[in-house]
Amino acid sequence: MTQVDTIMDGIVVSLAYLLTVDGEEVDRATAESPLEYLHGADNIVPGLEQALEGRRVGERISVAVPPEQGYGTYDEEEIDEYDRDEIPDADQLEPGTLIEVEDENGFIYEGVITEVTDSLVLVDFNHPLAGKTLHFDVEILSLREAEPEELDHGHPHALDGFYGDDDDDYDDEDGRA
Ligand code: ZN
Repeated sequence: MTQVDTIMDGIVVSLAYLLTVDGEEVDRATAESPLEYLHGADNIVPGLEQALEGRRVGERISVAVPPEQGYGTYDEEEIDEYDRDEIPDADQLEPGTLIEVEDENGFIYEGVITEVTDSLVLVDFNHPLAGKTLHFDVEILSLREAEPEELDHGHPHALDGFYGDDDDDYDDEDGRA
């Protein structure tokens, strides 16, 4: 396989990173357990992907990603009201509870309960990091060319199950496509 030394489309990138939001750690990946993503395939937020374009192995970068290039701006319209009796187990719900709601087409949306009244349940479907500026400290660990099947699927296959392959035929032996 050809040696790759620069991040560009079609390259699988292995990263260690620390993500902080409002000064708090939100997520991290270490060199022992790195994040792998396929560059140019929208696996990661656009602002981070753009900042990594053209970078090389061993580089460390710090990047502040604004909401528009991260998980989007916060949208009040994304808060939906449900009749309390539409929601099973409404008695056990309180603000902060995560719930999944299925629409008429069978799509599942994850939301957070923001308010429970006698008659209504309010669910916020904004991404938990919507409206936030994301601070990434990233180290580029390694690069390789993507396999044809990875390009086809639009994600790397090294991390079992990480990209939730609905389109794969799983091999029971190793859980990969
Ligand atoms: Zn796949």
